[in-house]
Amino acid sequence: MQTETRVGFGYDVHRFGPNTYEQGLVRLCGVDIPFDQALTGHSDADVGMHALCDAIYGALADGDIGAHFPPSDPQWKGAESHVFLRHAAGLIAKAGGRLVNCDVTLVCEQPKISPHRPAMRAALADILGVAVSRVAVKATTSEGLGFTGRQEGIAAHAVVSVEVPRSDDAAQAAAVDALMAGGLLE
Ligand SMILES: [Zn+2]
Repeated sequence: MQTETRVGFGYDVHRFGPNTYEQGLVRLCGVDIPFDQALTGHSDADVGMHALCDAIYGALADGDIGAHFPPSDPQWKGAESHVFLRHAAGLIAKAGGRLVNCDVTLVCEQPKISPHRPAMRAALADILGVAVSRVAVKATTSEGLGFTGRQEGIAAHAVVSVEVPRSDDAAQAAAVDALMAGGLLE
């Protein structure tokens, strides 16, 4: 069976403020970190996990987290984000694929991420069903600039690589045929 490697990117932001989930902590990449502010959101506001979900959905070209779990749907109010990430990982499995690696970057001045990195990698790897060596969590500040620099919220970026069975050779051949028929290719 021929496989192909696909790449997906995800981005998410949550602002600091009241949260129906829990005060006095922020949940980042599955780890609860004591902090004097909470992140607002319909779910547990795990911005890192949301970015990672969107990266997986992007790699599979299968919508985004808002399409799969609409914020307007009350059943996701206060939801724990591992539900979303398990769903995304399940779509990889359903496609007969596997996650090659993922790389999450959290952007914030506070809280400090590095002491929690090992726990975050372990939590994500457990949910995704992959080895910890396939999961990277990084952090950076924005040097006091912008909304993250003003500590108004936390942003997260994520990239994933997914290996899936190659299935659309016929579609690609048809596209080339169409271009040749149109005189755009010789
Ligand atoms: Zn989010």
